[in-house]
Amino acid sequence: MGKLDNKVAIITGGASGIGESMVDLFVQEGAIVIAADINEAALEKASQKENVYGLKLNVASDESWKELAKEVNDRFGKIDILVNNAGISSEKPFAEINEEDWQKMLSINGFGPFAGMKHVTPYMAAQKKGSIINISSYTAIIGQGFNHYSASKGSVRALSKAAATTFGRQGIRVNALFPGIIETPMTKNLSTSRDLLDRLVQATPLQRLGQPSDIAQAALFLASDDSSYISGAELVIDGGFSAQ
Ligand code: NAD
Repeated sequence: MGKLDNKVAIITGGASGIGESMVDLFVQEGAIVIAADINEAALEKASQKENVYGLKLNVASDESWKELAKEVNDRFGKIDILVNNAGISSEKPFAEINEEDWQKMLSINGFGPFAGMKHVTPYMAAQKKGSIINISSYTAIIGQGFNHYSASKGSVRALSKAAATTFGRQGIRVNALFPGIIETPMTKNLSTSRDLLDRLVQATPLQRLGQPSDIAQAALFLASDDSSYISGAELVIDGGFSAQ
């Protein structure tokens, strides 16, 4: 028996990195998973897996979220789990960030999870049960030189707490995960040199970079009924880096 048997889960950014790892683990544990992403080519690949349905979503669009939530509910009868994982990152220096950079970052990383919760919670409330997991970042806690990215992830942190109080009485749990540096296409695309990554490993108490499965396992716990009394919680998964 799987930990997510008969559950319907939406995972945003499900076509790459951490999201892809969650999609695979959730399916393995018995869920029907909707991998929702803006990257259609990657979605086609994801849809070839059993019990995975790739649907196009732009998390920064209210309308796109409204359509997706309705489509999932019409097709599968309910929505049990939402993982707000899609995101972009940037290392742009403080003085170079312009209004457009800020709006883009905050609309994908900040408005995205907000709109996801706004459109999915009515369906969860209808069955008086649901689990939402928002992916923030250790940079919401220690900055780490990621300026508007850190700000966007700080908004996810605060919004998760607010949503846990807003939706608790409808049986909906909301928790947040704070990954450290995880080896995914996102970190490969950063200008961060191998040398810097090596130094980060040295500075990490557990002496390694994170893997997507490290985050997926924590998301599985929060998605499953094993965590049925946990809401408003924050779990840092960074090998002890931000504890120093
Ligand atoms: P990734 O780049 O591998 O995957 C991100 C996915 O989000 C991609 O499939 C992309 O197409 C999708 N996406 C981007 N914009 C979108 C939009 N507007 N609508 C829908 N989908 C969109 O990244 P990852 O490393 O797997 O990161 C996943 C999440 O974890 C992100 O929120 C990221 O900020 C967070 N995170 C990552 C790390 C890390 O070190 N990799 C650390 C802390 C937090």
